[in-house]
Amino acid sequence: MIERPKKLKIRYLRRITQLIVLVGIILIPIYSQNPMQWSPSRIVLGQLPPPTVFSISGDTWTISFGDFKLMHPLAFIDFLVSTKRFYMPALVAVLIPLLITLVLGRVFCSWLCPVGFILELNQKIHRFLGRFNNVVKFRDLRLTLFLLLLGVGFFFAVPVLSVFDPPHILGREFMYYFTHKQLSITGVAFIVTLIIFEMLFVRRAWCNYLCPSGGGLSLLSWKRLLNIRMNKELCIKCGKCDDACPYYLQPMKLAEGESINWLKCDNCALCRDVCPTSAIDLAFYIDTNKVKKKEE
Ligand code: SF4
Ligand code: SF4
Repeated sequence: MIERPKKLKIRYLRRITQLIVLVGIILIPIYSQNPMQWSPSRIVLGQLPPPTVFSISGDTWTISFGDFKLMHPLAFIDFLVSTKRFYMPALVAVLIPLLITLVLGRVFCSWLCPVGFILELNQKIHRFLGRFNNVVKFRDLRLTLFLLLLGVGFFFAVPVLSVFDPPHILGREFMYYFTHKQLSITGVAFIVTLIIFEMLFVRRAWCNYLCPSGGGLSLLSWKRLLNIRMNKELCIKCGKCDDACPYYLQPMKLAEGESINWLKCDNCALCRDVCPTSAIDLAFYIDTNKVKKKEE
């Protein structure tokens, strides 16, 4: 009988992180709107620090904590391509997020994206409605759309990638709402259409086939070090990992010595969490992309 070592479910950590980001992009506009009222120090100490003590603004595309700024790797590329200018503060702001993407992969999608979080929960409604077995596969256009939008940005000198980045759209809507008491029709329509379409028709359609940001991040994380890995001895070929994968990547094939579509895998670790024998792990490997197609 196969012994099953107990492991912490990564999805619990992911959910907490996703929730923190979602709450964060709601609270930041509220705080920016009236920092004097919202300040945690005011609550704890019963006094009001000046607003400049702790200023925070932005969303998942770019964010500032006082003078410390972070920039999404694709926000940097979008800026660079559209302005054709090299701006040193932007390079400094992108360093940490870029390093994280290069080493850990597309974890921005699986751990941080608030829209990805909503669509993951939406997937449960899709399943509840009995539509989970309707596997519909389309052509993966993410990378094509990413390059197309960069090309448009280059020729028209406008950063268009940000216009199609759902977490940035969501952040902007919260910002509009709390600063102008308005919502933009296009932004709300985009998010609501996405949710309803995925709920009723194709689960995770946006992340799977269309998201230009997902395509760009896949490209950047092509040689990442964090990956899922199969211990073939432990696999009983139950197929649970294949069912859990939101991108239909069929991780069970790893048990047969085949590589999966690593470009699309976002290290969500759902396959690892559902595996009853702990055959799949998520860890740092230098040469995971060199899994042999077939073992001889
Ligand atoms: S869930 Fe685990 S045991 Fe089942 S097929 Fe996947 S790797 Fe093998
Ligand atoms: S292969 Fe596993 S880690 Fe990669 S996307 Fe699918 S479920 Fe997530």
